[in-house]
Amino acid sequence: MNTSPAARNNPAATSAPTSANSAVAATATAIVNIASLVTNDPSLGDGTPLGLIQDAAVVIEGDRVVWVGESSEAPGTDNRVDAGGRAVIPGFVDSHSHLVFAGDRTAEFNARMSGRPYEAGGIRTTVAATRAATDAELSANVARHMYEALRQGTTTFETKSGYGLTVEDEARALRIAGEHTDEVTYLGAHIVSPDYADDPAGYVDLVTGPMLDACAPYARWVDVFCEKGAFDGDQARAVLTAGQAKGLQARVHANQLSYGPGVQLAVELDAASADHCTHLTDADVDALAHSSTVATLLPGAEFSTRAPWPDARRLLDAGVTVALSTDCNPGSSFTSSMPFCIALAVRDMRMTPDEALWSATAGGAAALRRTDVGRLTPGARADLTLLDAPSHVHLAYRPGVPLVTEVWRKGLRTI
Ligand SMILES: [Zn+2]
Repeated sequence: MNTSPAARNNPAATSAPTSANSAVAATATAIVNIASLVTNDPSLGDGTPLGLIQDAAVVIEGDRVVWVGESSEAPGTDNRVDAGGRAVIPGFVDSHSHLVFAGDRTAEFNARMSGRPYEAGGIRTTVAATRAATDAELSANVARHMYEALRQGTTTFETKSGYGLTVEDEARALRIAGEHTDEVTYLGAHIVSPDYADDPAGYVDLVTGPMLDACAPYARWVDVFCEKGAFDGDQARAVLTAGQAKGLQARVHANQLSYGPGVQLAVELDAASADHCTHLTDADVDALAHSSTVATLLPGAEFSTRAPWPDARRLLDAGVTVALSTDCNPGSSFTSSMPFCIALAVRDMRMTPDEALWSATAGGAAALRRTDVGRLTPGARADLTLLDAPSHVHLAYRPGVPLVTEVWRKGLRTI
């Protein structure tokens, strides 16, 4: 492990060209006087998965990071930003949200918190409101929630369709999502459309046929809610393989409310991510551990439905790659806050603060099969967050406190 400053700054010893000061343009921007910098490169800094560098600096050129290292060794640049002893972390990568929706489900949440259990059918309420909304209303809602997330440090967002459930409404949702992010997921198979209540097989034919044809041009991913009351294993397989045949990559809502075939299916089809993973057998955990499928945990959903927590410790100890995400949606997890999810993961899912931070950044990137985000190393996108704290540990140590004070996205300060 290259832990000494000399090793860190020797290009022969590390792939990161941190000593190439002469290659840094004077017009670059150096953020200096960072108390602790999370790079997510274990070859840097303290040699842990977070690659923590103390008394650090980051140099940005255009939309990219070009240098990281100790503040005293930062190359000369025209622009210098003093971090004032704050911590800097990669921007959060929220790999699971449902932001193309309209309507309000406050009453449902209020009732559930008064003792009524969550049922997947609550989605129908949002479907009706979403169908009735204009394009402008839907787009404004996406923008509002993405800005809300950005203010809390999220710089990469995935979002899904799934509240239209007709050919036209699903394609519209994806087109609108694509105005705001590149990570767009086709979730026509969220629930069986109410229009097909008596013909679920007919709805699967629609989702894998004309709806897919209309939606595939707007999406990178295909997803399915594999769950009792939604789609069984065979139906989920049909949805995912049809999407893959159209060039979409798979991700799966798996094992959220009960044990089931979702995780095994995700692994079998090399899905990028199995999301939720709340009810897992030992065989499910073993399958994930021997796959390239990330387990994406969504503690906002368990919080908002008073459901049992997924056991992150069990997954991590088995060697599974774990991501944390918000699942931001109006029914079962109406939070856009990655810091809140980190705090829950540490308090209730037995993750360490370091693991939770990694999962909310590099883990999310892995769940989107991205290498350009979720880390702060030369060549990575300059997406970073300054915390009003000396360390990322404060995100769990000080739950609910608005610690995010600056957010840089693609090399520009946006918050
Ligand atoms: Zn979801």
